[in-house]
Amino acid sequence: MKFGTRAIHGGLDYDSATGAIMTPIYQTSTYIQEGVGNHKGYEYSRSLNPTRHALEKNLAAIENGKYGACFGSGLAAIDCIIKMLNPGDEVISTNDLYGGSYRIFKNIFEKYGIKFHFVSMDDTSEIESHLNENTKLIWVETPTNPMMNIIDIEACAKVSRANNVMLAVDNTFATPYLQNPLDLGADIVMHSATKYLGGHSDVVMGALICNDDKIAEEIYRIQNSSGAVCGPQDAFLVLRGIKTLHLRVQRHCENGKEIAHFLTKQNKVDKVYWPGFESQPNHEVAKKQMRGFGGMISFTLKGNQIEDAHQVLSKVKIFALAESLGGVESLIGHPVTMTHASIPKKEREEIGVVDSLIRLSVGIEDVDDLIKDLEQALN
Ligand SMILES: *Cc1c(COP(=O)(O)O)cnc(C)c1O
Repeated sequence: MKFGTRAIHGGLDYDSATGAIMTPIYQTSTYIQEGVGNHKGYEYSRSLNPTRHALEKNLAAIENGKYGACFGSGLAAIDCIIKMLNPGDEVISTNDLYGGSYRIFKNIFEKYGIKFHFVSMDDTSEIESHLNENTKLIWVETPTNPMMNIIDIEACAKVSRANNVMLAVDNTFATPYLQNPLDLGADIVMHSATKYLGGHSDVVMGALICNDDKIAEEIYRIQNSSGAVCGPQDAFLVLRGIKTLHLRVQRHCENGKEIAHFLTKQNKVDKVYWPGFESQPNHEVAKKQMRGFGGMISFTLKGNQIEDAHQVLSKVKIFALAESLGGVESLIGHPVTMTHASIPKKEREEIGVVDSLIRLSVGIEDVDDLIKDLEQALN
C-alpha cells in the first residue's frame, strides 16, 4: 500500500463491537477479566489501551516498522531510549538539535553517569573519532533544528552497524511522509507527535517506532515501568491528524518552497536555511533520503541585531509568535530566546544560532497571504 492509504487505514481495524468507522476513545483505566488471567489483551491502561494501541500500529505502518509505542510527549519518548542505557555508556549526538533533547541529555541523564558527545555530523568522521567500547547509541536529528543541516542516515547506519551501536533518528521535522529512517538502516525512529503527526497544535505526544523484536521488548518494558504514556483522547487526536498527514505535508512543502525563495530576494535578509537549496550542506543527501524539503525555514537578518529580529516577530500578523511547529497555522520563533535558550551562547553560535536567527514553521494557509505578511514585517 502507498503512503496515503497507509496513513488512513494502516494497522487499523473497524471497531468489532459496534462497527464504528473511527477508532473509539476508550476512556478507561482497567478492563473486566472473565476469569483470573483470562482477558481480551487489555488489563490496565498504562500497559495497553485500545485507542493508544490502534495509534501505535498505525504509526508502525507509516514508518515501515513492526512496532510503535506512544508516550506523553516527545521528550518522554527520548527519555525511554536513554533509559535503555546503563551508567558508563556513551552517546554520540548531533550538535545542532532540539533544545529540549540537549537539556534532557545534559541536565537529566549526565548525572546518572551517561556521557554525551555533541558532534557535527556533516560527514561521519567526527562520529568515528568519538566511538569507543562504551558507545551504545548514535543520536541523529535531520534536518537539524534550527539550521536545517542534513545528516546522511544511511552513512550513519553503516557506522553504527559496523560498531554494534544503536542508531536512533528524531524524524519530527521530516515526518514519515518525507523520510523513513528505518528503511535507511536506523534502529529506532522517534517523533514528537505534537508537531506534524498531530498537525493541529492541540496535543502533546511522543512516539517510537522500530523493527527489532529485542529493542521493542525493551521499549515496551520501559514504557510500562516508567509509565510516561499518553491518554486515549490524545491518541484519538493524533490518529485523526495522521489521516491527512500526506495532504498537509504536500502543502507545507509547496508553501515552504515559495517562502524560502521569497526570503532570498529580500534586502533585509542575510542567509536563508532550507533543505531544498543547493547551498545547504548535504543538499545532495537531502535529495536522496527525503521525498520533499518541508516547510521549516530559518533565516538571519543583515547586521545580526537581536532588536531587528524582535521587530520582525512583533510585526507579523498571520504568523503567530509561538514555540512549536508542524501545525496547520504558520508560526514564527526566535531560537536564541525561545527553543534554544537552554544551550550556552558559545555552543549556540558555533552551530550558527546567532542573535538575528528567525525560524518559520510555514503552515498550510494561502501562500500569497503569508508572503504579504512577511513582506510588511520585514519592511
Ligand atoms: C518538539 C520536539 C521534540 C520534543 O517533543 P515534545 O513533544 O515537545 O516533548 C523533540 N525533537 C524535535 C525535533 C522537536 O521539534
